[in-house]
Amino acid sequence: MKYISTRGNAPELNFEDVIITGLATDGGLYVPETWPQLSPDQIRSFASMPYCDVAYEVMAPFVDGTIEDNVFKDIIAEAYAGFSHPAVVPLKEMQPNEWILEIFHGPTFAFKDVALQVLGRLIDHVLKKRDERATIVVATSGDTGGAAIEAFRGCSHADVFVLHPHERVSEVQRRQMTTTFEDNVHNIALEGTFDDCQGLVKAMFNHSAFRDNLKLSSVNSINWARIMAQIVYYFTSASSLGAPDRLVRFCVPTGNFGDIYAGFVAGKMGLSIDKLTIATNMNDILERVVRTGRYEVLGVTPTVSPSMDIQVSSNFERILFDAYGRDSESIVRLMSSLSQSGAFTIGPEALKNINDDFDAVRTEEEETLKTIEDVYTASGVMIDPHTAVALAGSRCKNQNENVANIVLSTAHPAKFPDAVEKATGHKPHMPPELSALFDLGERFSVLPNDLETIEEFIEANARANSCN
Ligand SMILES: *Cc1c(COP(=O)(O)O)cnc(C)c1O
Repeated sequence: MKYISTRGNAPELNFEDVIITGLATDGGLYVPETWPQLSPDQIRSFASMPYCDVAYEVMAPFVDGTIEDNVFKDIIAEAYAGFSHPAVVPLKEMQPNEWILEIFHGPTFAFKDVALQVLGRLIDHVLKKRDERATIVVATSGDTGGAAIEAFRGCSHADVFVLHPHERVSEVQRRQMTTTFEDNVHNIALEGTFDDCQGLVKAMFNHSAFRDNLKLSSVNSINWARIMAQIVYYFTSASSLGAPDRLVRFCVPTGNFGDIYAGFVAGKMGLSIDKLTIATNMNDILERVVRTGRYEVLGVTPTVSPSMDIQVSSNFERILFDAYGRDSESIVRLMSSLSQSGAFTIGPEALKNINDDFDAVRTEEEETLKTIEDVYTASGVMIDPHTAVALAGSRCKNQNENVANIVLSTAHPAKFPDAVEKATGHKPHMPPELSALFDLGERFSVLPNDLETIEEFIEANARANSCN
């Protein structure tokens, strides 16, 4: 399996190189050259298989032998042994034909663990085999940082630098990152938004001397392996509700478009998906673009679902690439318009392609809180505000009894206790792993939104830097 850049001007890579490289050298994102196909019988068989076995079957065509089979199977088994639910990603019926897929049972209580527990082990394996070091830079709106630190803490071949927007993440999220004192973990609280963090990471990758000297790598969802690991739970959940002999609709709380893009790939591989619903909070660039074709960056407003307080949605470039028939010149044109004027307009044919697979819905803050309250009143179950954005979105779509509805539940309610308490009047139960964080000291550096300052900080602290 070869991987190609959406912008058409970077070397083709195999799987092993693609996970180490992260962002393509032409600024584009790597995608597989073709979509592997799973047969209806194979998909049907997933319904009665353990999660790890499905994970192997879904991911193996992407890995394509670059990692030995037994090594890859061990990586999968170890990654999911740390999940607290025996099903790994349990599916719960909330109402008739309304299902919640809980993908947050990993070590940091948000769905980022599903992919990062695999990716951390893959990168560690490759670096050890090659006897190389790497510097991993991560932009986080809150959950990716903690999950990346959990995946790489103490790893002898990689240093991790996490940039989070200062005072724009929840206290639990911050403490999950800043209470780690391992030598290879560094936290930067950036005076800016998540989009600023992500912009700096991209700028470091486009600064080739810095990139090469530090052996920069990224585990943000621009990294193909993040997407790959997330495809699996679309297959496990849909097959357990009757796919491929029944259609399924997924409603996904969306920020950087990595999670829902994995659903798109599952569809390309043969899963019977009726529609993928993009659920946004009031930072609604994705809802607007799907409705109007105009992708326009406006300011970011802080909400009760901070992991989705994003305007520049990296993985949207991957969907555009397919919507434009994989024509990289169109992507280069749209992305240069985005960097020059903060906007672009999608042509009618490409927009139609997007609308065939996706629809979108925006949920207001009051509706998010009311949904948390409604669910609690009806069932005693607490859901987190990101899940609530998606559940509210799903409930305002037309329901069709022939189509199973699955809502992705991306975080444990205890990660966002203030919002949950505001909605229900009760504090969510704190798992001991989270309450312990409040007794620990913190370590992080508050730095200005300035590329040079950030690069100097990383150069001074990274062990992969040949000058250190
Ligand atoms: C990251 C995150 C999202 C958004 O996922 P994307 O892949 O960025 O679209 C939604 N909910 C939670 C809790 C998250 O951590």
